Amino acid sequence: MKIAVKIYLSVIVSLLFVLPIRGQEPNKETIAEEGKYSYQSQSFYEVKTFPQKFKSKNPKNIILLIGDGMGVTQIFAGLTANGGHLFLDNFKHVGFSKTQSANKYVTDSGAGGTAIATGKKANNSAVGVDSESQPVPSIIEVAKKNGLSTGIVVTTDITDATPADFIAHVPLRDMSEEIADAFLKSDIDVFIGAGKKHFTDRKDGRNLLTELTSKGYQVCDTITETENIKEGKIVGLLTEQRVGIRGDQLARTTDVALNILKQNPKGFFLMVEGSKIDDGGHDNNIQYIVEEMLDFDKTVGKALEFASQNGETLVVVTADHETGGLTLVGGDMKAGIVKAKFSTGGHTGVMVPVFAYGPGAELFTGINENTSFFDKFIKELKLNE
Ligand code: MG
Ligand code: ZN
Repeated sequence: MKIAVKIYLSVIVSLLFVLPIRGQEPNKETIAEEGKYSYQSQSFYEVKTFPQKFKSKNPKNIILLIGDGMGVTQIFAGLTANGGHLFLDNFKHVGFSKTQSANKYVTDSGAGGTAIATGKKANNSAVGVDSESQPVPSIIEVAKKNGLSTGIVVTTDITDATPADFIAHVPLRDMSEEIADAFLKSDIDVFIGAGKKHFTDRKDGRNLLTELTSKGYQVCDTITETENIKEGKIVGLLTEQRVGIRGDQLARTTDVALNILKQNPKGFFLMVEGSKIDDGGHDNNIQYIVEEMLDFDKTVGKALEFASQNGETLVVVTADHETGGLTLVGGDMKAGIVKAKFSTGGHTGVMVPVFAYGPGAELFTGINENTSFFDKFIKELKLNE
């Protein structure tokens, strides 16, 4: 009885403190002082709902979107900041991916992306090779061999670990010149990102952009230039910047890629990376994370729009790992406010989410290893390895 009274009194006392605070408007100056740990949206974007009926049972095309460093918390921070909704709301088939690498509990993007791209666990820092350092074919290479069109669109250097995992086979992710050369040899139809210097300012003195041009590639420096290309092979090496400066580059260049790749009657495989959600995590900066997260979600919206109209396209969204050990210790869904804490400046070992939409989406539920994507992609597209 005594304990019950004590609890009752402590509830009353806490309510006295909490109630007046709840009624107050959030103070923008306080938020600014808190800097990297608090974020308030200035506006919300509208999220469309797409139909769940598709033309075929198996997809002809796959769009894989990878949010680098995007755990459940990064997604929920974005969802809160956009007033409670994301384009990701459209996904009815949801699962989890276990991200451990061959030699570490906590993976890096080299090993994490290699597992997704090739179906093989790799050691940290490795790119497109298995744990014995042997080259293993990526889904992009297998798709190309089967006559499909292929593409990669990112917001970081195109030679960075995640895109490299789909194209190159090197023991170390910082072998940028070798990775750039692998793009030249890959015969990939569309690749757009940053990192021009790895193609032009090289120790071996070669200019890979000249070589790409003579192979028939159309080389672009700006988003608008890429938008003027309507067919054929295209490489875009744009100025890498944070979302505030680069604007909606990821969504626009994803559109460019889709409009070119869709012309192949045999189908296509496109990988799109929200590369810098990870950078926000390393920086322990919630504003950086939310802006990159929402930029990525709008790109997911572009993919869904294409897939819903096309009817033969599977869209899969996942991450290579979580970054920052982000947790949300407060927020306001209506005002678009999130308050964050971080447990590390590095990556963490937690499962990351998987979302699938379109024909074949039901294969992507449950808790699976990050190596499971490759076989499912092969099966869905009916490719010969
Ligand atoms: Mg990456
Ligand atoms: Zn990272």
